[in-house]
Amino acid sequence: MIEALPLSEMPASAEALRPAVRAFLDEALRGRPMDRLARSWMGFDADFSRAMARQGWVGLTLPTQYGGGGKDAFHRFVLAEELLARGAPVSAHWIADRQSGPLILKYGSDAQKDFFLPKICAADIFFCIGMSEPQSGSDLAGLRTRATRRADGWVLQGQKLWTTNAHKAHYMIALVRTSGTPEDRHKGLSQVIVDLSLPGISVRTIGDLSGDAHFNEVFFDEVQLAADAVVGVEGEGWAQVAAELAYERSGPERIYGSLVLFDAWLDHLRTLPVPPEADLALAGRLFAQLLPLREMSLALSAKLARGDSPVIEAALVKDLGTEFEQAIPNLLADALGADPTLERPQMLLRTLAYVLQICPSFSLRGGTREILRGVIARGLGLR
Ligand SMILES: Cc1cc2nc3c(=O)[nH]c(=O)nc-3n(C[C@H](O)[C@H](O)[C@H](O)COP(=O)(O)OP(=O)(O)OC[C@H]3O[C@@H](n4cnc5c(N)ncnc54)[C@H](O)[C@@H]3O)c2cc1C
Repeated sequence: MIEALPLSEMPASAEALRPAVRAFLDEALRGRPMDRLARSWMGFDADFSRAMARQGWVGLTLPTQYGGGGKDAFHRFVLAEELLARGAPVSAHWIADRQSGPLILKYGSDAQKDFFLPKICAADIFFCIGMSEPQSGSDLAGLRTRATRRADGWVLQGQKLWTTNAHKAHYMIALVRTSGTPEDRHKGLSQVIVDLSLPGISVRTIGDLSGDAHFNEVFFDEVQLAADAVVGVEGEGWAQVAAELAYERSGPERIYGSLVLFDAWLDHLRTLPVPPEADLALAGRLFAQLLPLREMSLALSAKLARGDSPVIEAALVKDLGTEFEQAIPNLLADALGADPTLERPQMLLRTLAYVLQICPSFSLRGGTREILRGVIARGLGLR
């Protein structure tokens, strides 16, 4: 059942991180064009990720014994919102930092923790998530990729789809069937760590409407995995994935996807001798929506910091947050087009064009709007 989401103060110790992150970003992002920054957590730059790791900001919540920062979810929230508000290209390390690292910490063996976590924190290795398959996106439990046990390990056969960064990542954490049949649904699924350099793996990139190439088809043809490739308990993959989705759906990245554009538009308004009344009213309205969304995401951080797994609340925040991110480019397109006699900065228009093209994906990635609403309805006891 869904619980109340009590407001949470940002602790002063977490807030104290902000100036250092801002100073770092002033330097690291200097000269990057706005329409690139608008890619935000879709922007891949391994050197940038390694520079962040040298600051101790990759794996900020992982224990210090593994090279992590040993900080709580509030610190990560401050870091994430500064990175997202500025459009930092964090995609290379984002999935490992947000999901794969915490998953390995919670469910992995000591050997897996010792091997993977220090490399994640150093941004030496990047991860991707292999959940979706053809015919199994929303209906994830129907997936067909299978790992079959052999004397010396596992043999992996099947296909993943829409796998972000599979063409650049070193490892995938894949949800696969290790026993039973697709009709068994949630039973018999396991998570395996797949080294993407292994023989039998081929990756085919899929272009998106904006011309970027970030997600992929991944094919497994008789891929030999070691005996210790399974993370956590064999057959318990579904429960592990459900817990992982709270991390995937709850963060500020589900709210701030259009913030670079919003900021650029505000900068433009500031250059006008008299900004239109309607634009000022729109700016106020968007701020008034942004603040409670941020509070809700922060409240989820408090739950994560306590070790809870707020799966239903995370679905709610993601649904509302992506609605906000999608509304921004559409509202700004109307605002910028309201008076065709006015001249608009070319870079602002290019950035708007990019965000308009990409924003439909905000409510698909990480689970679609319809699926999230089903999760919320179940949490409210309505289905
Ligand atoms: C930018 C981007 C990045 C992604 N990255 C990854 C990744 O790294 N790893 C990964 O595993 N996946 C990734 N995905 C895949 C994403 O999780 C799926 O696209 C999503 O879960 C939907 O699955 P699908 O595409 O198969 O659509 P389908 O499941 O076929 O759904 C099609 C439509 O039908 C609706 N629908 C389906 N079932 C129901 C139902 N029961 N009730 C009501 N409506 C329903 C859906 O809401 C949707 O609108 C990514 C997707 C995008 C857009």
